[in-house]
This record gives sequence, structure tokens and C-alpha cells, in this order.
Amino acid sequence: DQPLVFDFSYESNMSRREVENTVSQMLEVEGWNRRATDPFHLHFCNLQPEGSYHQELVKRYSPEVWDRLLVTSTERHYIDLFPREQLVYLTADSPNVLHSFDHSKIYIIGALVDRSIQPGLSLANAKRLKLATARLPLDEFLHWESGAKNLTLDQMIRIMLSIKVTGKWEEALTFVPVRKHDGLHQHQIKPLSTNKTTRGFTN
Ligand code: SAM
Repeated sequence: DQPLVFDFSYESNMSRREVENTVSQMLEVEGWNRRATDPFHLHFCNLQPEGSYHQELVKRYSPEVWDRLLVTSTERHYIDLFPREQLVYLTADSPNVLHSFDHSKIYIIGALVDRSIQPGLSLANAKRLKLATARLPLDEFLHWESGAKNLTLDQMIRIMLSIKVTGKWEEALTFVPVRKHDGLHQHQIKPLSTNKTTRGFTN
């Protein structure tokens, strides 16, 4: 299975409450991935053994379930696990657009909830590590109202699972809740009302 990395290096940037919210979203992420016909091999990287993310994950899953999950969780850094040229950090603040999904790349998603006081946190991290970055083609496919284009982690996994199988952004981006935008620009192939049933978190 193609790896998909979640970067748990943001512990010190978040309050306890934000860590709890992030972990709630990660439970959804793992659930969507487990039920998918073509799942990713999830890697939870930079997970500190006694850190607050880890404590919260074990609390929410129970240690027995946590140990049995089909997730590779590690305190190691993804730059030490994968070839650098394969890594692409996904961040809404990237100047580059992810035009098409590449099955040979390893995409990285920041395991954090949105914070208006710290915009650009994951872009800054990717830049420091000198990694390629990309943002989802939201402007290209959706009519956006004003407001942040940061999606939640459960929305991100559903989009990535869909684009991986269909290769079609028109389908994958139906997982962006309608309240965030005002419809698809082109090739409207699915009734937008299907979005209204999308369950998810708000940033
Ligand atoms: N202000 C935060 C930051 O510094 O990125 C927002 C975090 S966002 C809630 C959680 C993660 O989802 C991000 O780190 C990124 O990996 C991914 N993400 C959210 N929206 C995205 C978008 N439009 N394009 C690419 N990645 C996105």
C-alpha cells in the first residue's frame, strides 16, 4: 500500500484541548482509511512516546486496540524513513497546486487543527526541511466564499482516498463541505446536495 504520513511534530504548538481535537479527527481518519477498498498505509511519525498526542491516542483507543491498529506509529522522522525526493508536504499555504495525484509520492499531512494565530505552520515546517509542498486544487475546482481554505483531517483523508482511486478532483472534492464553498467551477458531475450529508469537524 502507498504510504501516507501524518506528522505529529506539532505537540508544542498546541494546547491540550487542541491535541484532543486533533486526536478525535485522527480516529475518524483511521476509521475512513480502514474501511476504504484501497487504503493507505498510514504512518504516524514524530510521535513522542510519553507525549500528549500519544497519551490521548492510547486513552481514546485503549492500549490493546491501539497496538492492533494497521498503523505504523513511530517516534522517527519521516525524512529518516523515506527518500526525500518522494515526500510532498500538503499545506493550504503552498504556492504549488497538486494538479494530479502521484502514486509514487509520499504525501504528508500535518496532525494539527487549524489555528488562526499560527497560520502557515506546516508550510514553515516543510520549508525548514526543504521538502516539496503542494496545496489541493480548491480554487481551481470550487467557487470559494471568503475564508480559510484549511480542511480538517477527516476531510483530507476522504479526499486523498478518493483521488487515489478515481483520479478525479471533481469527485474527490465533494468531501469539502458545501458551507465552505459555493459549488464546482467545471464538470459538475455530482449533485452538490450529496455534500450536505458529509459528516465532519469544523476547524
Ligand atoms: N494553519 C495550519 C497549518 O499550518 O497548516 C492548518 C492545519 S490543517 C487544519 C491540517 C493539515 O491538513 C495541514 O497541515 C495540511 O497538511 C492539510 N491541509 C488542510 N487543508 C489543505 C489544503 N487546502 N491543501 C493541502 N493540505 C491541506
